[in-house]
Amino acid sequence: MNTQVIRNVRPMGTAAVDVLINTSVIEAVLPAGSASPELPCLIDGQGQLLLPALVESHVHLDKTLWALPWRPNSAGPTRNDRISNEQVLLKDFAIPIAERAGPLIEHCIARGSLYFRSHVDVQTAWGLRHVEAMLALRQRYQHLIDLQLVAFPQGGMLIQPGTEELMEQALALGVDLVGGIDPAAIDRDPVRHLETIFGMAQRHDRGVDIHLHDPGDLGRWEIERIADMTQAHGLQGRVMISHAYALGAFAPSDLLGLADRLAELGIAIMTCAPPQVTVPPVAMLRSRGVTVCSGSDGIRDTWSPMGNGDMLERAMLIALRFGWSKDEDLAMAFDIASAGGAQAMGIANYGLGVGCQSRLLLLPAENLAESVVSRSLQRTVISNGRIVARDGAFVTNPA
Ligand SMILES: [Zn+2]
Repeated sequence: MNTQVIRNVRPMGTAAVDVLINTSVIEAVLPAGSASPELPCLIDGQGQLLLPALVESHVHLDKTLWALPWRPNSAGPTRNDRISNEQVLLKDFAIPIAERAGPLIEHCIARGSLYFRSHVDVQTAWGLRHVEAMLALRQRYQHLIDLQLVAFPQGGMLIQPGTEELMEQALALGVDLVGGIDPAAIDRDPVRHLETIFGMAQRHDRGVDIHLHDPGDLGRWEIERIADMTQAHGLQGRVMISHAYALGAFAPSDLLGLADRLAELGIAIMTCAPPQVTVPPVAMLRSRGVTVCSGSDGIRDTWSPMGNGDMLERAMLIALRFGWSKDEDLAMAFDIASAGGAQAMGIANYGLGVGCQSRLLLLPAENLAESVVSRSLQRTVISNGRIVARDGAFVTNPA
């Protein structure tokens, strides 16, 4: 018998229940105390909050310096400074990616994230080295997490001849999505950049996830072109625009038509809600039906020493960025770090209902709002019928 019971937990802060799971699936949800005492008990939740595992929709695991001694940031102030600084530092970096990204994945699991989308650098400076390392890590942790990979031309695509071919090879090796970056500011030819990545996505039957920092009118024009190309290439529901700073440069009331178009085409918006730039108006976008998700972006890498891979903290930072304090707004921040990400990433059977995946997070809090505000580290994480983290620490040998 594979059925186990999680006793006395409160799904999303509602009344206490017992949850029956069969390895990877939620089989039944019963009033607390009514599950058969014969069933093996995976954990007695003692009235804790039960949540679906968190969703890290945008991270750069391959570039982290996690698990290494502290390293002062040496990058210059511009995006191009950071790109060239990173190329110099990472080209011949002594510590393998697996020894940095592996511990970071385990740390993120311990904070409750079991779904990830990681952009993976594809650069002529190091070819497919990062892709190969991340594919191996995906294999190593596949029994615990879902990990989507994006072929990401960090150094530019058109301006770095050979990158396009490397991206094609990355897709052939099993990378899930086609990436892109600032078609104007970095690649200097927005139409050709977008035509290239959308054409590649269509040929390989993959989705698109594009980094778009281009600001103001320029960025808005590019978002409109992304919408056009999503429609023209039949990629509805498979496109994400990461950052989309430009959407924060306009009054939300000026963006209603564009928001409706994004919603209609199933184009998701990812924001980390950084404090120093304009950010998309997420409440308005959600009210028009746009899927909004979030992520850590870089975590302790050559770009910035910031980041801790905690998606509950990211939810708090989103709330802080928009000045949210009402329970319903804090619950919205939680949703962006969980169900919004699942929707944006196309994860099936996400949630706490019967038939959903049994990838779960327990922590002591009254409700979603308190979970975001308190960010308790007393987290228990369950994946595939096993407790994989307890009190914020990873406990399972992933081998
Ligand atoms: Zn990024």
